[in-house]
Amino acid sequence: MKIAFVCTEAVPFAKTGGLADVAGVLPKYLERLGCEIKLFIPKYYSIDETKFNLHYNWEVGEIYIRIGGHLRSAHVYQCKLVDSNVEINFIDCPHYFHRAHFYTNDADEDERFIFFSKGVIEALQRLKWAPDVIHCNDWQTGLIPLFLKDNYSWDKLFEKTSTLFTIHNIGYQGKFQKTALAKAEIDEKYFFPMGPVEFYNDFSFMKSGIFFSDIITTVSRTYAKEILTNDYGAGLQNLLFERRNDLYGILNGVEYSTWNPESDDQIPFNYSVDNLEGKLKNKEYLLNHFGMTFDNDVPLIGIISRMVEQKGLDIFAESLYDLLKIRAQWIILGSGEDKYEELFRELVLNYPDKFAAYIGFNNELSHLVEAGADIFLMPSRYEPCGLNQIYSLKYGTVPVVRNTGGLADTIKDWHDYKNTGNGFSFNDYSGEALVSAVKRAVETFMDKIAWKKIQANGMKEDFTWDSSAEEYLKLYKLAVSRKNKS
Ligand code: ADP
Repeated sequence: MKIAFVCTEAVPFAKTGGLADVAGVLPKYLERLGCEIKLFIPKYYSIDETKFNLHYNWEVGEIYIRIGGHLRSAHVYQCKLVDSNVEINFIDCPHYFHRAHFYTNDADEDERFIFFSKGVIEALQRLKWAPDVIHCNDWQTGLIPLFLKDNYSWDKLFEKTSTLFTIHNIGYQGKFQKTALAKAEIDEKYFFPMGPVEFYNDFSFMKSGIFFSDIITTVSRTYAKEILTNDYGAGLQNLLFERRNDLYGILNGVEYSTWNPESDDQIPFNYSVDNLEGKLKNKEYLLNHFGMTFDNDVPLIGIISRMVEQKGLDIFAESLYDLLKIRAQWIILGSGEDKYEELFRELVLNYPDKFAAYIGFNNELSHLVEAGADIFLMPSRYEPCGLNQIYSLKYGTVPVVRNTGGLADTIKDWHDYKNTGNGFSFNDYSGEALVSAVKRAVETFMDKIAWKKIQANGMKEDFTWDSSAEEYLKLYKLAVSRKNKS
């Protein structure tokens, strides 16, 4: 089975969130199941050619792509994903991808990913490699299924190629003005009247992906159900409902060779479920690093998050008065909207022994926070899968989460008498519910025996990629069998 896996970030090359963790790891597991994989990502400025041993592919050479009345050229660089034979193809075009951020609000944001999507298809043509499935991820790749059905339908190379589109977050849809149609050379019939790519008079790349792909997936079973509803579908619920028989939820896995306190080389003290001494030392190290007092009886609550409303930071802000009364310390790592960055800066200034924050992206620190914190808070309004709560389980850092999406599928509420559960969860999206869940966690933290049990329940759980990769393979096979029938 030949799979082209297309997405706009992948560890270790480029990461802003969970998508990168998925794209840099899942292909390896698919390869172990017998797939031949080519991964495609843009060649961003920050990707170090020497460090990753990238080489130019002469067979592909210079590809001209007409876009918005200009001819732009793409080139392909390649390397292998570490510990695997997965070939990574970096689509190079400094004009589009040498920017300060991977995603921008620049006027040509639409062009950047139209270009990337066409670049992938044309690189496949030059490589003369016909994938059985093109696995597209999120709105940036949402035009590929349409391009195959229309713009490139003349090419026999893709005669047997089907498409699978994964929604990692329906909240980000890639909506642009109608002028993007001409840039992409997409026929107006797809826009008018109420056409498959039209969304309230805008051109939605995400809608195109959902409409034209053969199979749609999202990253947890609960989220797959939630996005069919008005509350969670972000306006696309009706289309998703129409396509519900082709929609599947597959939970993301975890790469335990990277996220395991027993072997993690980014933390100063390794530890395991049988000996948690190292965890305590990491806590002390972390608190010292941020100039806070260490007291084993005061729980340290960690947050690692993009600072956006989706992550529940509005209810966090709303309940601050009550949260401050709880005997706990807080460590926050993240960046995003100004108002939240500002809020955390102020908290650190006003309560230096209670709050520490690192505003920015820091991979090493994210491991240390997982290892050093006692509790991990994720009060998301919605959460397609969420990875940090799953990492937290392995690190014995008990998650407190809102019961939604992937959080609902991974965190089971602690039950005092039965000694079951691996964390604390709450239902209502409100400051009150958040505070009461945090209080429950902090009170239970004082009961050392119960706490050890919750930690052990989580640390023993296994969310490896193996079973999720098998589920993807089944869907690839389903897509191929349908294509053969048609
Ligand atoms: P999302 O993809 O919505 O941001 P996930 O929980 O699925 O949320 O994945 C987030 C990933 O990004 C995790 O691997 C997390 O550790 C990482 N991450 C988020 N913010 C930061 C940050 N400021 N510094 C380092 N890593 C971060």
